[in-house]
Amino acid sequence: MNTLFATDYSIVFNKNAFPVLNHFLDENKYSKIFILVDENTSELCLPEFLPHLSTEIPFEIIEIESGEIHKNIQTCTEIWSVLTELGADRKSIILNLGGGVITDLGGFIAATFKRGIDFINIPTTLLAMVDASVGGKNGVDIGVLKNQIGTITNPKMVVIETEFLSTLPQRQMRSGLAEMLKHGLIADQEYWNLFQDLSQLDLSDLDALIHKAIVIKNQIVQQDPTENGIRKALNFGHTLGHAIESYFLENHTKSALLHGEAIAVGMILESYLSLEQNLIHPENYLQIKNTLKSLFGTVEISDNDRNSICELLIHDKKNEYGKVQFVLLDGIGNVKLNQEVLTTVIMSAFEDYKS
Ligand code: NAD
Repeated sequence: MNTLFATDYSIVFNKNAFPVLNHFLDENKYSKIFILVDENTSELCLPEFLPHLSTEIPFEIIEIESGEIHKNIQTCTEIWSVLTELGADRKSIILNLGGGVITDLGGFIAATFKRGIDFINIPTTLLAMVDASVGGKNGVDIGVLKNQIGTITNPKMVVIETEFLSTLPQRQMRSGLAEMLKHGLIADQEYWNLFQDLSQLDLSDLDALIHKAIVIKNQIVQQDPTENGIRKALNFGHTLGHAIESYFLENHTKSALLHGEAIAVGMILESYLSLEQNLIHPENYLQIKNTLKSLFGTVEISDNDRNSICELLIHDKKNEYGKVQFVLLDGIGNVKLNQEVLTTVIMSAFEDYKS
């Protein structure tokens, strides 16, 4: 698959990827390499990765516990300290080998350590390949509030090796699919249509589908790297989706939702808002709802839950002057940014979601 070029870095794929990575590391004469992993990627991905790492530069492994609850400033403080103890300097580089938690966290740590050192993302989940590793956004949560602290700092390279997905649990694969569907809904109806009959797709299509998802994201980010306009499109489904994810994280009577699972609910709800604003046809809405529900099922959200979820909307990063701003669909493949919606309409969206 073709290498993609982002603003100031490249996204390299499969068999080209590791030779390009090795060449880059040597050419830039890094003093030391730090490979950030969680316990799962340490066990399942590191043994696949290390034989490909061919360099004289010394390296160290830094391992953290997996999971969104560790994507916080405390974990950063621990890793900043470990980097200091291990003698990291400004010519050191971090390789983030893991899912979106590792790429978000590792990117933020690198962007801020000694005012910024280089990092490379080597995503190992579908979600991180098609979304989190590309575009330079990084960060951590405050409590359960998602991505409240962070920067936009580009990696030096993104290495996509789809072989890593061979050990990824099915539920995590499905979570990544949500962001691929989002890319179709906001920017490419043809891509969205490919997912209408999943029986027509098999694993051999996966590489091409991943490549296309990254092309779509990269094109949007390149038009608006700092998210003043069109980049907000990538937040479709995330205004309510993040609030739902946070609510399920903090509510211990509920089993936590994966990021993509929460975003799938958010996309159905925000498609309903688009319908109510006359931006999409009823048949579009039904197609979106049926496609997402057939993949992700229906999450139980009570009346109490939805009130608490709506209260969390005040923390959304797109809000301006205290107003919640949605990204809505404008037909399939297009969006309308900065849309305000009445709370009663949001409540109706939850009501309709149940049916
Ligand atoms: P994750 O990093 O928690 O990974 C999911 C699970 O899979 C973890 O338990 C991990 O240890 C395990 N895992 C990783 N690779 C594996 C492999 N190859 N085989 C077996 N297990 C493996 O979560 P995620 O879904 O990858 O990412 C979600 C995060 O990404 C969220 O924090 C979200 O906010 C963030 N995100 C960021 C952006 C961005 O633009 N920066 C975009 C979308 C999502």
